[in-house]
Amino acid sequence: MLLTAETITVTYKSRAKRVQAVLAATVQLAAGELVVVSGPSGSGKSSLLLTLGGLLRPDTGIVRFRETDVYQLAATARAAFRNRHIGFVFQQFHLIPYLTVLENIMAPTLAGNAVEKSADPRELIARFQLNHRAEHYPSQLSTGERQRVALARALFHNPDVILADEPTGNLDDVNGRIVIDHLQSIAAEGRGVLVVTHDARLRPAATRSLTLIQGTLTQEKSA
Ligand code: ADP
Ligand code: MG
Repeated sequence: MLLTAETITVTYKSRAKRVQAVLAATVQLAAGELVVVSGPSGSGKSSLLLTLGGLLRPDTGIVRFRETDVYQLAATARAAFRNRHIGFVFQQFHLIPYLTVLENIMAPTLAGNAVEKSADPRELIARFQLNHRAEHYPSQLSTGERQRVALARALFHNPDVILADEPTGNLDDVNGRIVIDHLQSIAAEGRGVLVVTHDARLRPAATRSLTLIQGTLTQEKSA
């Protein structure tokens, strides 16, 4: 198994109250799978995704990448683990406004991080139909193009796992479909892809889908 979370619980504590965002969730992701976790706003989707990706330590439970217990790693080792194995795609894209499309895709190297096995950025540009946009800035792109840049950037360091938060949330049907097709092809090339979303359009594309309601994860179907 590529990535597993075993009975993870995430609680946010503020002075006044505690919010249990994720309750004893267990999920597994294998290479080649496209797992879709759907649930309404506030159900804990983003918290679950961040925890799976090594960005948010759960209160209880274990996240494993292959044999490694992710939260047993020291902070720098955990950052290196993310750079090597995990690609994030965020709903708000998080593109850098003063870098071109090509530079955004290569941003992991521009930040001075060693990238061991990077993809050819020109191939990514072609794969995501961005040839005519390589030298443009994010503000000059359509929403669909921005989401494709975010996908290309997430693949630049050749991660084993792609974690995507509402990747079709801002897109119309045509552009949503394009992104879904790309997510399927990313899984088909042997990566594990896990998507959290409230968008019902994604469910038919999944190899397996789960539901998250008020922090509780349940299995929906197996294919
Ligand atoms: P979703 O992505 O499904 O909308 P989230 O994981 O963002 O759900 O949030 C789950 C719950 O945790 C919500 O009640 C939300 O208000 C709360 N929450 C999320 N992030 C924080 C935070 N940083 N501090 C406190 N509460 C939070
Ligand atoms: Mg969210």
